Amino acid sequence: MNIESSSSLKQFNTLAIDAVAEYFAQPVTMKEVAECLQFARIRNLPVKVLGGGSNVVMADHIPGLVLMYRAQECEVLHQTESEVTVKVGAGYDWHQFVLESLSRGWYGLENLAYIPGTVGAAPVQNIGAYGVEVKKFIKSVNGIYLSDGQDFCLSAQQCGFGYRESCFKDELDGKVLITSVEFTLSKIADVQIGYAPLGKMAKEKGVPTPAQLAQWVIEVRESKLPNPAKLPNAGSFFKNPVVTKEEYLNLLSKYPEMPSYAQDDGIKIPAGWLIDELGLKGVSFGEIKVHEFQALVLVNEGGNAEAVLKAAQNITGAVMKTFHIELEQEPRLFI
Ligand code: FAD
Ligand code: NAP
Repeated sequence: MNIESSSSLKQFNTLAIDAVAEYFAQPVTMKEVAECLQFARIRNLPVKVLGGGSNVVMADHIPGLVLMYRAQECEVLHQTESEVTVKVGAGYDWHQFVLESLSRGWYGLENLAYIPGTVGAAPVQNIGAYGVEVKKFIKSVNGIYLSDGQDFCLSAQQCGFGYRESCFKDELDGKVLITSVEFTLSKIADVQIGYAPLGKMAKEKGVPTPAQLAQWVIEVRESKLPNPAKLPNAGSFFKNPVVTKEEYLNLLSKYPEMPSYAQDDGIKIPAGWLIDELGLKGVSFGEIKVHEFQALVLVNEGGNAEAVLKAAQNITGAVMKTFHIELEQEPRLFI
């Protein structure tokens, strides 16, 4: 097993931070993972797990061993006329899995097309887009504890999924390597076109097939979101805040144009709108720029984690001062 020392992770994080890992390995098999864990144990090194690096802010120097697990199996476990259960390796590219599932007539993931990253990271923040969250399709998550290599299998219910949340960001944070995810997908199309851009396209073109819907999602995303390969970014930098009805009514009286969406636990206000309302679109904080068309995305123009976090602090401070809303950062610190 090749374990590199002083390895640059610049190409492995979409913010393109020039981070250096003390040690870095890309195991493909469980035997290789075990070798890596043994290597770390002997040297008393912390072990950190990286997927595609599209939701992390990396420190300049990352002590310990960074593991990027590459297994990419896609195995059918069970199927009936109406649904299929598949087990997918954590290293499988998420978008490729969405396309693969559609090509095999397995439906449900179409709204989640074009999200960067790996299958293994999808449960970590319960990825979501256009009104669909991955938790709906997850049957179970398999992995091992980094401390002793013991394996586990958690049912979807045990994963504690919430809005961009799960137990992997909470009590299991930094403690496990997810090795595969089991999904149950439908063989019957049921397209979700509730979000405005998709609804508008359906009005113009008719109700799409799941594959067409995935294509629409790709088109909308390509037109709105900066490509990290050209403009390094980590997607939405802040989660959308959910406020109480009282807070919402108070804000609405001052900002009648403010968009909002009712949720079970309160009212969701788009964080991008709050930042845009402050006139911060296109504004730079040192090497970090608020994207010109999408205020929720921070583009890195050569800065490091410190620069990113400083810019984020400026933005959260301004939002707090004007709207009395605390924005929560979405990408995870990788240190
Ligand atoms: P990484 O960034 O590498 O890791 C994220 C976290 O998961 C880290 O804490 C890491 O330690 C942990 N992790 C990763 N793999 C494993 C594993 N195998 N076992 C245990 N822990 C692991 N997110 C959405 O929800 N919806 C979107 O629509 C969306 N759009 C995006 C658009 C752009 C342009 C970008 C750059 C990001 C977007 N994201 C979106 C965020 C990101 O793509 C997702 O969160 C994705 O799931 C991260 O996957 P990754 O493999 O890159 O994870
Ligand atoms: P958008 O359509 O401009 O909408 C702005 C925000 O309003 C979104 O964040 C979305 O919340 C919310 N929203 C819009 N219509 C809604 C509805 N009908 N019901 C409930 N909430 C609604 O958003 P966008 O920036 O182009 O992104 C489109 C989708 O892709 C969103 O779902 C977004 O989460 C996802 N996305 C996520 C990331 C990331 O890094 N996490 C990056 C890019 C895009 P929700 O975010 O809760 O859906």
